[in-house]
Formats: sequence, C-alpha cells, structure tokens
Amino acid sequence: MRNLRIYLSLLVASLIGCSAFQLAGPKASTSTSMVQSAPPRVAAPLYLSTTTTTTTTTSSNNNSSISSASKSNTSNNKLHDLNVIIAGAGPSGLLLAHLLLQRGAKVTINESRPDPRVSTAKAALAGFAYALGVGVRGRTAIQRVDSELWQTVKSKGNECDRFRLYVGPFSIKLRDSSVKSKGNIILRWLTGRRNTDNVEPSLLLYQADLCISLMNELERRYGSSSSSSSNNNRVKENTEMEAGNGSGRAGGVELNPEEARNTANQTLSEDEPRFSLNFQSRVVECDLERKRVVLERTRNETVLAPYDLLVGCDGVNSIVRNAIKTASVNFTAEKQTLPGEFKVARLNHTPPKLDPNSVALIIPKSGSCTAFMEPTVNGSACILFAGRGGPDSPILSSYVKPRGKQDNKTAALAEILLECFPLLEGADLEEIAEQLIAQKPGSASSVVCDVYHYNSSVAIAGDAAHATGGVSGQGVNSALLDSVALSDCLEKYFDPTTKESSLEATLLAYSQRQVPEGKALYDLSFGPKPRGLKKVLYSLRAVRDTLFQGRFGIGRPPLQTLLTTSVERFSSIRRKMNFYYDSPFPDSATFDDWITNVHAAMKNTTEEKL
Ligand SMILES: Cc1cc2nc3c(=O)[nH]c(=O)nc-3n(C[C@H](O)[C@H](O)[C@H](O)COP(=O)(O)OP(=O)(O)OC[C@H]3O[C@@H](n4cnc5c(N)ncnc54)[C@H](O)[C@@H]3O)c2cc1C
Repeated sequence: MRNLRIYLSLLVASLIGCSAFQLAGPKASTSTSMVQSAPPRVAAPLYLSTTTTTTTTTSSNNNSSISSASKSNTSNNKLHDLNVIIAGAGPSGLLLAHLLLQRGAKVTINESRPDPRVSTAKAALAGFAYALGVGVRGRTAIQRVDSELWQTVKSKGNECDRFRLYVGPFSIKLRDSSVKSKGNIILRWLTGRRNTDNVEPSLLLYQADLCISLMNELERRYGSSSSSSSNNNRVKENTEMEAGNGSGRAGGVELNPEEARNTANQTLSEDEPRFSLNFQSRVVECDLERKRVVLERTRNETVLAPYDLLVGCDGVNSIVRNAIKTASVNFTAEKQTLPGEFKVARLNHTPPKLDPNSVALIIPKSGSCTAFMEPTVNGSACILFAGRGGPDSPILSSYVKPRGKQDNKTAALAEILLECFPLLEGADLEEIAEQLIAQKPGSASSVVCDVYHYNSSVAIAGDAAHATGGVSGQGVNSALLDSVALSDCLEKYFDPTTKESSLEATLLAYSQRQVPEGKALYDLSFGPKPRGLKKVLYSLRAVRDTLFQGRFGIGRPPLQTLLTTSVERFSSIRRKMNFYYDSPFPDSATFDDWITNVHAAMKNTTEEKL
C-alpha cells in the first residue's frame, strides 16, 4: 500500500512535469509575497528583446525571454573599460565570461574546484557528475555567443526528445516526437491548433562536459591572454592542484590574509591579461563597498583582487549572496535544503531493456528510490537514483548490509538494484553498485532572492540567485539565461564615462528582468497547492495534458514540455496558471516597483553607513 502511494505520487509528479528527481519541495508561492508599502517610483528600465526565437511549436511565445540567436552576435568594445570578477566556473559563470569578453570587458573567473579537465574520476563525480538537459532556453542562450559555440557544446551531448515512464511492465510515452497522431492534420485544420509533436530535443550532457566545452572555447578564443598556470594565466595541468598545492594566481595581488583584509584598493598592472581562469581559487570574502574580493588560492596564499563588477555565479551556497546579506538588511534570500537524497551512476551503455533514445523515469518494484535514466553521448547513460535516503534505502545510503551468501557489499547492492529495478537487467550492476558505494549521497537546495544585485557593485546569477534543485529541469537553462540578461543589460546601460551610476542602472535593470523569472520558475517547479474543486480540476488538467499534449486541439503540452521546449517567459506561464495558485503572480510593474524599492533601501543603508 505504501509503495502504491509512492507510485501514485510519482506518477502524478511526472504527469505534472517534474524532472530529474522529484522530491517534496518547500511550500510554493510564499516567495511571491511582496513588500506592500508604496514604493518610490523610478522609471522602469526598458525590457530586453521580446522577439520569439525558436522553431518550437508549443506556445505562441509572444512573451519570449530571449532574443533571437540568429539576430546578431554582439561583438564590440562597449565594455572595454570594465573589470569583471566572476565567482564560479559553472555554466552561468562561463557563459557570462564569453558574453562579456565578446563585448570587450576584462574578465577573471575564480573557481574553487580543481580543473575538471585534469580531475580524477572521483573528483569529477563529486562535482560535475550528473547529466543535464539543456533545452531550447539554454541552447538559445549559448547561441547568443555564436552558433559555433553551440555546435561545440552540442558535440558533447545527445539530443533527445523522448520521455518514458516505466511502471512495472508498462512503458508510457510521456513525450515522443516520433508519435504522429492519426487524423492530426484534419483536426489541426478543424481546430486551428498547431502540431505540438515536433518538440525541440533537449541536449543531454554531463555538467562537466558542458563546462569543459565552454572553458576550452574561452581559451581558444581569448587564450593568448588567458587562463592560469603558476605564473598568471595558463590552465593548471597538473594534478597537484587537486591536493591543494597549486599556486596559480591571476588578476590580483598576493597578500597574506591579514594584509588582504586591511590593504587599500590595488590596481591591476598594465600587462594583466584580459581573460583569466583560475582553478582552486576560492572567493572567501567580498568587500562590496571598496569593490574587492579576497581569494584563497592555497592554505597560505591569499590574493586581493579589485573589480568594477563582481558576479556571483557560485551556486546554491553562494559566498557572494551571503556577502550581500551581510551588507544589507534589506536583501532577503532564502535557502532551503530539499528533502531526499540522490546518487549518480555513469554507464558506458544504456541498459538493454530500456529505450536508448528516451529519458526514462523508472518506478521501483520495491523500495522508495526512483531511477531517472538519461541517454548521453555515444550510447552511454547516466542514472540518477533519488529518494528519501536514510538507512532504509541501501541504494542511497553508504551502508549496505551483507545479505545471504553475499558478504561482499558490491554484489549485495547489485542484487538489491536488480530487485528494485528489474529493467536494469543486463546492465553492469556491479559497476553501478561500485559507483554508488563510492559516493556520499547528495542533496539539493532551493534558493529564492528578492533582488539579484547590490548597489553598483555586485550581481548574482544562476543557482546563487535562484534554484529549484533539479526539480524543474530548468536550473541550468535559467542560469544561462541570467548570463544573457546581465550581459544585455550591461550592453544597454554601461557607460565608461559614468561608470558607477551606469552600473547601478544596469544592475537594477538586471534584477527587474530576472527576479520575476526566478520566482515564477520556483512556483512552477513546486506547483500550486490547490484544494477542493480546484485540486480536482488541476489533476484532471494534468491528466488531459499528459494524454493529449495539445494534440487534436485538446489541452496543451504538459508543463515540463512547455518549460523545456519553449522560450515563453516563466512569468508568463505562471500567470496563465494563476487560477490554481493561492495568489496571482504580480505583474511586471509591481515587480519593478518592488525591486526599485529594495534597491533604494539598500542604497540608503550604504550611504548612512559611509
Ligand atoms: C542532481 C541534479 C540534477 C539536475 N538536473 C538538471 C537538468 O536536467 N536540467 C537543468 O537545467 N538543471 C538541472 N540541475 C540544476 C543545474 O545543475 C544547476 O541549476 C546549474 O548547474 C546552475 O549553474 P550555475 O553556474 O549557476 O551553478 P553551479 O553549476 O553550481 O556552479 C557554481 C560553481 O561555483 C563554484 N564555487 C562555489 N563557491 C565558490 C567560491 N566561494 N569561490 C569560487 N568558486 C565557487 C563551484 O565549485 C561551481 O563550479 C540539476 C541539479 C542537480 C543537483
């Protein structure tokens, strides 16, 4: 009975469009509660392009969030006088570096981890192991640099537009572009509805491969002055770095920690390279007023680096976000650890009983842990096991009891895997078991912030600003979109002759652009909590959309498909679902006022402090 309940909840979860691993999330919608006092009104910044970009057929896209990739690739010198430090070489930080360098800025990326290109398998598993689904939003964002960059990324992944749910002996196609409805043309003609079968495929690739492609291209394009070895900017190529022995430095001045905290602003020397990528270079402190960060390169080496603009692309546990919180009581950020745990296994081949061309959500025969399989490049696959964790879940716990004749942990876990997931028969279960035993279970977090910037000094992007812990399957896509939005705002507002005020306008515009998107994605990811009749209607709607997916003019694509295959703004999708939520999603003007209000309050506090 307990299992049945789990199956049903997972089924519903998948029906309403949850991705990688659906865990019970925090209460939705609280995030959109707003400051009620009448805000001082300032001119709302111009919004970015609202042009539709893709060939998707799933929505009207009249409120698109990204401008066309084919429109133009900006390559100019508008930002030549701007010194940007990016904390974090994840997808958002690396794409932002591309976009800013293309516009002439000076960019230094500081990444706390070792270079993934030289990491051992274990280090790779710890950080970048899982496969991401880069949908049309992420693809369009990357194409904003140019289509060559997208081609490079694409070559590392596997395009896939099918999604199956495996429940016991049943395999349900939740999304499959190869399924063409009979009579569809006639019904389309009768109903005036467009064919929703031709969805854009997602690119499934390991986070490491996405990051490595972006890094390699950064070096290839800006390499003459880029990256890091022991003397300024060559990417570390030795594994010593992993033991914390690296001595890379770039974009800063070496000081001991005490000096670093007390020394006045340092200026970069003339021959500083325009682009630097430093691994094992952790941002440990941010002085937001004097615009400089303290970087820890090794235990004994601390570097002070000045900047014009600091961008925290440093993930859910962002140091930069925490620095804003410390600097201003008016900045509100909420981070919550989501219930449940996960582990990841990489396979050289897709298990023979599973469709090698479909993403698969597999409901277990026993136990509460589900498996989410993504076919990755060259016939390989990534399986994410997710569930409640704890001692009752041997797949996720690090303790596996020997059982029966099996006194060997690996063999015992392989047996458990087969019992829970008979569809994995034929896969190298011992290899999977070994990988699982070697890992600590991971957990995911959600993040919600009221603004994504502080004065003229700092912006935050990606998971540092908003996260849904993999639940929406849009984390990386929305992170990449932040980078596009920030670089577009800089392009529009930055003026080297009025650096500080134009940076302030830039960052306010960026928050006004992206905060509603982050909040909407949060609401959509964790869903509404309708009651009574609304609940019934909501469930019926989910079933209808899953079965018909907009075919025959009935319903519309399920939420997950809509998020993955269209570039319609998250806030627009969320507003269309207002009926099911406790409170309607605020309109753009309300958001603008709210964010302007917070911005003014942060500025006032800073001025009072100074
Ligand atoms: C299990 C799982 C599955 C997921 N699946 C999907 C999916 O299918 N599709 C999708 O779109 N999203 C998915 N996501 C979410 C996605 O991984 C994130 O949203 C995305 O990686 C965010 O990118 P980012 O660049 O903002 O941050 P991150 O990828 O977290 O990168 C942050 C970087 O900053 C570095 N860093 C941290 N602190 C510091 C510091 N103090 N100094 C310097 N560097 C620092 C980190 O080492 C890291 O490299 C998933 C997430 C999880 C956990």
